[in-house]
Amino acid sequence: MVSRAATAIRDLLAAGRQSFSFEFMPPKTEAEEQRLWLAVRQLEPLRPTFVSVTYGAGGSTRDRTVRITGRIAAETTLTPVGHLAAVDHSVAELRHVIGSYAAVGVRNVLALRGDPPGDPTADWRPHPDGLRYAEELVRLVRSAGDFCVGVAAFPEGHPRSLSRESDVEFFVRKCRAGADFAITQMFFYPDDYLRLRDDVAARGCEVPIIAGIMPIISVPMIDRAVLLSGARFPAALADELHEHADDKTAVRKIGVEYAAAMCERLLAEGVPGLHFYTLNGSRATREIYQVLGLASGGSGSGAPITA
Ligand code: FAD
Repeated sequence: MVSRAATAIRDLLAAGRQSFSFEFMPPKTEAEEQRLWLAVRQLEPLRPTFVSVTYGAGGSTRDRTVRITGRIAAETTLTPVGHLAAVDHSVAELRHVIGSYAAVGVRNVLALRGDPPGDPTADWRPHPDGLRYAEELVRLVRSAGDFCVGVAAFPEGHPRSLSRESDVEFFVRKCRAGADFAITQMFFYPDDYLRLRDDVAARGCEVPIIAGIMPIISVPMIDRAVLLSGARFPAALADELHEHADDKTAVRKIGVEYAAAMCERLLAEGVPGLHFYTLNGSRATREIYQVLGLASGGSGSGAPITA
């Protein structure tokens, strides 16, 4: 029997219910490690469909990402997805990481190209023995065994794309290379997500596109995230947040209300799933769950949320 940890995300998504998932980052210090596991344990009762762990460009977090996903598989009731970024890796190194995931019981991989380490906006140079696009990594992971593979999607178009249209074309190619699901970059206008979903569907591609939700918990955090991702950000929301920049509680409340309203609209539009960028904290996500009335868990029953 396949363990819950190794269940393919494609099967969980095919079960028909809208999926709810959380993203974590590998910790760098002992204190961060403790914060991560506290968040994992606080979010576990919400019974997410899966949780994912990011991967540092060039393998900077390779061991930690594999270790954390392996521990989630072994010690929790959660289904982990390990991210894998091709940048700065040879194909042999990528094969090794894929093998490490299999060895710790991780069968779901998010295949990414990654951005240049150090300066994410610098010229993208392929490793001499590596890959150029995520599409090739999808094929590599698929060829390495019985993996379920996810990819990234960009509601506003990837920042390096020649045009939004070409980006949609390449996204569909990446899906046809063997992707089972996609997760989007953060976005703040639901219409951007819906346009991508419709454009992809119009090309006959049915890969479920899960919406990535970034809860706003502080003004510097969101300023930096928006700068790095290039996401459009509503001016009125920015003004409101900056007006309350010194009041953490007010900022969190504004952020939770905005994210919850976005989630409500997306759920009503039939989105296949919502993926929360937790930044290794649990509170904002739990508060959004509360506003949405999902406190008993998105994929079934669960414990009530405590603040
Ligand atoms: P690709 O799909 O390869 O696309 C990159 C660019 O190339 C796009 O502009 C695309 O239009 C274009 N393109 C694609 N195929 C072709 C082709 N055949 N010919 C010409 N052009 C083409 N980064 C990390 O380092 N670690 C992580 O853990 C991580 N997690 C992420 C999770 C999510 C949900 C998202 C949305 C992003 C994540 N990223 C992560 C960031 C991601 O690696 C970068 O945004 C990267 O710039 C794009 O990756 P991709 O996999 O979409 O690339």
